[in-house]
Amino acid sequence: MNQPDQILAAMACVVSAAAVLLAAFLTHCTRIRPEPQPARGDAVEQWLRAQRDVHSDKYGVTPAWFILDDLLNLYRLHADTATPLDQHCCEGNGCDCLEVAP
Ligand SMILES: [Zn+2]
Repeated sequence: MNQPDQILAAMACVVSAAAVLLAAFLTHCTRIRPEPQPARGDAVEQWLRAQRDVHSDKYGVTPAWFILDDLLNLYRLHADTATPLDQHCCEGNGCDCLEVAP
């Protein structure tokens, strides 16, 4: 192995060690301050409700209101089931997640 190859190998080793340290640090930080989970009445739910409620006019609610209401209900389902937002959560209506493979 010539000198440039040795330098590259050493740099790769340092980068690899730094990645391991960063992963350990991020894991440590997550344990100290866990990701906030959805909860009824939290700021996100209030914000979603406010966004939904601006979508009405003198004729009643608009199609956007129903879309945002669905999103708000899904957020509440995550809160009620303590399911993190990055994981699937549903009531099984029209969703194939509950189907068992034959
Ligand atoms: Zn599902």
